[in-house]
Parts: sequence; structure tokens; C-alpha cells
Amino acid sequence: MQIVCSIAAMQRLAKKWRRAGTRIGFVPTMGYLHAGHLSLVKSARKAVGNNGKVVVSIYVNPTQFAPTEDLANYPRDLQRDLKLCREAGVDAVFTPKDAEMYAGRAAANYSTYVVEENLSFPMEGITRPTHFRGVTTVVAKLFNLVLPDVSIFGQKDFQQTAVIKRMVADLNFPLKIIIAPTLRETDGLAMSSRNKYLVGDLRHQATVLWSSIQTAQAIVKKMKSVSAAKLKADLKKFIESEPDARLDYIEFFEPDTLSPVSKVSSGAQMALAVSIGKTRLIDNAQL
Ligand code: AMP
Repeated sequence: MQIVCSIAAMQRLAKKWRRAGTRIGFVPTMGYLHAGHLSLVKSARKAVGNNGKVVVSIYVNPTQFAPTEDLANYPRDLQRDLKLCREAGVDAVFTPKDAEMYAGRAAANYSTYVVEENLSFPMEGITRPTHFRGVTTVVAKLFNLVLPDVSIFGQKDFQQTAVIKRMVADLNFPLKIIIAPTLRETDGLAMSSRNKYLVGDLRHQATVLWSSIQTAQAIVKKMKSVSAAKLKADLKKFIESEPDARLDYIEFFEPDTLSPVSKVSSGAQMALAVSIGKTRLIDNAQL
């Protein structure tokens, strides 16, 4: 497995593979890898075959964190990540440096951003108004560096998948996006690097995200169509019955357009963000 730390080396390697007609599958991550990330690696391998190359990027992208967020504390363990990637059959891990990616982020040296202006606005976009600008910018940059034929994203970040798919379509990136299902712990908690923060009783309280999705699924199955406002109010009560849980949002919406629905029925997408203590978690599923 190759470990690539510079932009020039990554572009050289990607161009060499491309010239040879080798397909490139790409999994962007922020590291601190778990089984969810590794399932994306498996999808990438399946997509490009044994003759193709699988690249994983490990980069905690500063532009998608607001100044108040957990950039400095975001969990990191590169040696462990490299071992997991090696075991998973990854061909190259790309770990660029901030200094190269954003030239220090002084506007004099770096001033170009990619902004999606519709699907980025609701849900995560309300609480984290600069988040998707950072995501689309770094993903566009990574696509230019890794030159993938196919890139895999997790359904866990549902709104992110919608924004990335739109960016790829709007800006004509010549690659295919594959969305892979959410991997969960046995009690339903969606795997996430941030779960590391859930110590003591907080870990158990965090299962309330998945329980509320299951509750909504059961209600929709039984009632066929329910008021979104009523369902939101009931689920808020249910979630906040956990002592350290604070609801940020719950939305019910059309999965393709992210347009909110006022009546929730089978096929609607549900997404929610809940802080468990200081840890903000998100989850989603189709009802
Ligand atoms: P992150 O390192 O959190 O930026 O995530 C990198 C990629 O892994 C994104 O496409 C995520 O959606 C995906 N991912 C994160 N958690 C999971 C999970 N539990 N199951 C599947 N994919 C995931």
C-alpha cells in the first residue's frame, strides 16, 4: 500500500494509473476509521475490480468545521488507520497537509470555494451554515487530485450525499457516485468516529436516535399517513426524555429533493441531529 502525503505525488500516481487505463475507486474520509468506512472500501473494490485501484483519503478538513466546532479535538489515529487500510486491501492512502490544501487559508493565498445553493440550506445547513461549503470544496479538490472513476459515500450523511451528487452533476465531474448503506452497532447506533466521545451513560443515551427512527417507522406502518408536525413533537419529547439529549432538528422530506413533507407516509426520508452531552450525532432512514 502506498502512503501519499503530497498533492504532486497524488496527481502523478493518479495520472499514471489513468494513462494505463486502470480504474480508480475513491473513498474520502476524515480518518479514525471504523467498520462503516471499511464497508465503503469494499464497495470501491467491488466497483473497480481486482485490476482497479482503491484510494482512501484521510484528511480532517478544516473548512467544513465552524470555529466553535470540534476540529482540534476530532479523533485522529493515523497508524491505526493505515493498518486497517492495509488489511482492507487499499492501494493508496492519501493524507494531505492543511498547508498544501489551503495554503494557510489566508485569503491572499487561498480564495476559491465550491458552493451548492439549494440542498445545502436545510437541516445541517441551518445549524452549520458553512459546513457544506467546506465539504463541496474539499471533495472537488480531492476529485481533482485522485481522478476517480467512482467515489463512494455513506448514506449515514444523507444530506451530504445529496449535495455531492448535485455538485457532480452540476459541475460535470466525469465520475460515478455510489451511496453505501449505514453500518450500525448491534444496538442500532450508527457507527461514527465521534462515538468515541460517548463515555459512560452517554453511549446508551445515544441509541435514542435509532429508537426514534424505529418508532417513526412503526407509526408510519400502522397509520399509513401522519402529520409531520405531530410526529416531530412526539419524537422530540421521546428524545429529550434522555437526560443529556437535546434535539437539534428532525425533518421528514422527499429523499431526492429534500423538500419537507407535511404528511409523512411510507417512502419519506427522516433525518435528525441530536446532541448527547457535547457530542452532536446525526442519523437518517427511509420510512
Ligand atoms: P467521515 O470520516 O465521517 O467524514 O466519513 C467518511 C465517509 O464514511 C462518508 O461518506 C460517510 O458518510 C461514511 N460513513 C460514516 N459513517 C458511516 C457508517 N456508519 N456506515 C457507512 N458509512 C459511513
